Amino acid sequence: MISAVMPTYARIDVTFERGEGAYLFDTDGRRYLDFASGIAVTSLGHGHPHLVAALQDQIAKLWHTSNIVRIAGQERLAERLVANTFADTVFFSNSGAEAWEGGVKLVRKHFSHNGQPEKWRLITVGGSFHGRTLAAIAAAKTEKLVKGFGPMVEGFDQVAFGNLNELRAAITPETAGICVEPVQGEGGIRAANLDYLRALREVADEFGLLLYFDEIQCGMGRTGKLFAHEWAGITPDVLCAAKGMGGGFPIGAILATESAADGMQAGAHGTTFGGNPLAMAAGNAVLDVLLEPGFLDEVDRIGRILWRKLVKLVADHPKVFKEARGAGLMLGLVAVPPAAELMDDLRNAGLLTVGASENVIRLLPPLIVTEKEVDEAIGILTTVAEARMADA
Ligand SMILES: *Cc1c(COP(=O)(O)O)cnc(C)c1O
Repeated sequence: MISAVMPTYARIDVTFERGEGAYLFDTDGRRYLDFASGIAVTSLGHGHPHLVAALQDQIAKLWHTSNIVRIAGQERLAERLVANTFADTVFFSNSGAEAWEGGVKLVRKHFSHNGQPEKWRLITVGGSFHGRTLAAIAAAKTEKLVKGFGPMVEGFDQVAFGNLNELRAAITPETAGICVEPVQGEGGIRAANLDYLRALREVADEFGLLLYFDEIQCGMGRTGKLFAHEWAGITPDVLCAAKGMGGGFPIGAILATESAADGMQAGAHGTTFGGNPLAMAAGNAVLDVLLEPGFLDEVDRIGRILWRKLVKLVADHPKVFKEARGAGLMLGLVAVPPAAELMDDLRNAGLLTVGASENVIRLLPPLIVTEKEVDEAIGILTTVAEARMADA
């Protein structure tokens, strides 16, 4: 008999009851160090006092009004994102996929608005992930995502991640834009070379294309900059964000330049829930913390400490780990044995991680993680790796 909850996830048999900072406690009272963060979502950890207070305050005042009226928190969050990024304008949605797909609509609309409706296709890259809607799976083209879901939404041409020759060859008079994750998450924590990101900007300019970055996972401070592309010193025309944006409250956003968003006039796009007062209280509270002087520098500093320890862990346990990858606090370990087995061992030893393609174990600690917690995680990883080495 089918379970009451539709069985689309092979769920781990654990239920969490409460959280505190970087720790989660299950229904048996067991404590876990949370290096999963609900898949890069709970960026301030669990129960962050500033986020709790902001939401409690807003909960008592007003939750929802719809987008047919002005929303003060939305204007504030949009203005702050505009002030701190390349963007001139922001649209708020409820999820990553909704933001990503809205960004695709924005790109297509830009060209149609400017008398070039023949330009509507996007170039995407292998290993990418943009969500589970029909257009998002059509863009990623991953077998596991598309199989059985009928004819795919048209308009996505895929080339290998990192390959500029293939990319240039794929450009046709119908190409409108290029969409890439600066650090691929689901694809196995694959960070784009910074020169590749710079070259994407050049190619987009040369051919008059819009450059669209999906920073749903790697954005909102995860790599030690507000957005990951900042490391390359270039800017996109369009960007989507989500996961860490609300610290656990569902929020997505499309950020764009004025020129890219020129077709997005009244009536062009919408959402019932997106950007409601409660969501915006969460978004503004998260941004308060991210923009505190020194906060992102500390993410960068801790990320580098964790990185060095992971590199040593890999070197010391070659039968268990092949490679460390990633940027900031978005790191991955390529496992030798099945990653799922190692992740079970890690969880049993009190460390939560997330899987990804290419047999990768993702380490996505909250951005408030301390050096002491990093040491604790490395201790658990080492214990599990030593046990594996002894077995091998
Ligand atoms: C998670 C993710 C998405 C989809 O977000 P949802 O909120 O699950 O729809 C899209 N792109 C990237 C890079 C992601 O990591």
